Amino acid sequence: MGNKLGRKRCVVDEKYTKPQGLYQHKDVDHKKLRKLILDSKLAPCYPGGDDCRCDLEECPICFLYYPSLNRSRCCMKGICTECFLQMNTPNSTLPSQCPFCKTFNYAVEYRGVKTKEEKGLEQIEEQRVIDAKIRMRRKEIQDEEERMQRRQEMSSSSRIFEPTEIGYASGTGMPVITLITFF
Ligand SMILES: [Zn+2]
Ligand SMILES: [Zn+2]
Repeated sequence: MGNKLGRKRCVVDEKYTKPQGLYQHKDVDHKKLRKLILDSKLAPCYPGGDDCRCDLEECPICFLYYPSLNRSRCCMKGICTECFLQMNTPNSTLPSQCPFCKTFNYAVEYRGVKTKEEKGLEQIEEQRVIDAKIRMRRKEIQDEEERMQRRQEMSSSSRIFEPTEIGYASGTGMPVITLITFF
């Protein structure tokens, strides 16, 4: 075949080309599924694990850990093959929808096990998002403090200012205070 991109075709163990029994799949075309997995178009059906290891990825649907996951084309979220099969019920009359961002015509792609670089980039990206959130929160707190201070100043100034003081302030070229309170 003319696959010049040199996509590495990992040899998948035959037993991982069929569902591991996470769900009771009714309408799975096993031949098609096997071909997709062998062609590296879908992640192999590795049995999911419960323990979190840094070299594993968690499927956000079944919360099990896998050596590699499929990615949704719309939002790049990971999903294991069995959960993906479960989402795509062939007899459903509704167009398939991404379970994460609700985009129609849900489709996934498989890019193999994540490289160290990809993982590193993801971590940087995550850190960036966290930093941005912290910055935003800080700004909110700051704004809120400023608002409180202004309110306090306003209420205290309206209490102290006597008409004479206002005259004095405008005489010295200070900003003219228009807030005049009559008692
Ligand atoms: Zn899953
Ligand atoms: Zn999506």
